[in-house]
Amino acid sequence: MQLLESAEQREIRAAVRSIVASYSHDWYVKRARDGLKVGELWEAIGESGFIGVNLPEEYGGGGMGIQELSIVAEELAAAGSPLLMLIVSPAICGTVIARFGTDEQKERWLPGLATGKTKMAFAITEPDAGSNSHNIATTGRRDGDDWILTGTKYYCSGADEADALLVVARTGIDEATGRARLSLFIVETPNAHLQMTVIPVEVTAPEKQFTLFFDDVRVPSTGLLGEADDGLRQIFFGLNPERIMSAAVSNGIGRFALDRGARYGKERQVWGAPIGTHQGLAHPLAESYVHVELARLMTSKAAWMYDTGLDAGEASNMAKFAAADAAIEALDRAIQIHGGNGMSTEYGLADAWGFARVLKIAPVSREMVLNYVSQHSLGLPRSY
Ligand SMILES: Cc1cc2nc3c(=O)[nH]c(=O)nc-3n(C[C@H](O)[C@H](O)[C@H](O)COP(=O)(O)OP(=O)(O)OC[C@H]3O[C@@H](n4cnc5c(N)ncnc54)[C@H](O)[C@@H]3O)c2cc1C
Repeated sequence: MQLLESAEQREIRAAVRSIVASYSHDWYVKRARDGLKVGELWEAIGESGFIGVNLPEEYGGGGMGIQELSIVAEELAAAGSPLLMLIVSPAICGTVIARFGTDEQKERWLPGLATGKTKMAFAITEPDAGSNSHNIATTGRRDGDDWILTGTKYYCSGADEADALLVVARTGIDEATGRARLSLFIVETPNAHLQMTVIPVEVTAPEKQFTLFFDDVRVPSTGLLGEADDGLRQIFFGLNPERIMSAAVSNGIGRFALDRGARYGKERQVWGAPIGTHQGLAHPLAESYVHVELARLMTSKAAWMYDTGLDAGEASNMAKFAAADAAIEALDRAIQIHGGNGMSTEYGLADAWGFARVLKIAPVSREMVLNYVSQHSLGLPRSY
């Protein structure tokens, strides 16, 4: 593993940083609070080739990997403009389509996903199936050559701005285990039989979350991704990129918070010296810096393992865990060093709390990561 980034990776980092510098955190927050999108930023990143940097070159992508896409995600978040759709559209949907899609599906979807002109949302979570995907109740049943989807998904990010949804549905039962057989469907939107209702959440982000009601939504056979009943394997292929990308966003939020915290620590004087002089404030920030850097290292390792074709399950889970914890800790400490200003709108820190906090829950919760590590890394008995 290359511990230091290549010249090309450093260039991507610098280029994204320079693009996002034109869009301030205040602008991002105002847009999100006004219920508006940040299309200009998305387009600027897309036009520079960074949204599909991980997708195959033959379909208009950059032909690189999750390492490079996670650099893009981290830099956006470090500038105070994290983009959830970057996790969902190119990292999950693009990866899975590139790996399992038919030639027709790749030609139909990948060029748009690569430029960012097309967006795809990912719908797996249901009211009774979050951590436990085996409980998925949304069904896909055959009707001639078509499929009919029925059921409810929730917390689907960006469904309103997506051109299509990648939907996980139950298409059968495995007789041996009694578990659901899952399949993935690409559902184009809007659809008269698909209703979307926004879920109000305390996350300041331009992407909203939706409950989706599939009332016998008809999907042509071209909408079935790969083989029927092969969905679990397909999803697993997209989950590590999702975890690595989430870790990258957390790392960016951690850097964003530490940057603001350190800046304030140098400027603010209460007892005649900058407050950053006091170790009671400096050490927590320094400790968080260590934690964020460790998380970044594990994130790089996970992304490298994934791109190299190695089993990246453990590293992706651990990166996601470490990064989410480090980000929320850094943010809390950056707020603390700001005193009352930490809670002000003007200083632009407290608004990031919801985003940073959600990354301890989604896309996989810290408890489920600890379950994974207990079972797979330590060989302990499965508890559930
Ligand atoms: C802002 C936001 C955006 C989201 N975007 C999307 C999206 O785009 N697409 C999508 O499909 N979903 C999305 N989600 C959903 C997210 O992936 C789920 O919330 C997450 O997977 C957890 O599932 P759950 O909420 O059902 O929690 P539950 O599964 O109900 O878990 C509740 C609590 O119990 C714990 N728990 C559960 N099982 C165990 C166990 N065996 N051992 C120990 N603890 C356990 C969990 O860790 C958690 O703390 C989003 C959620 C949010 C908040």
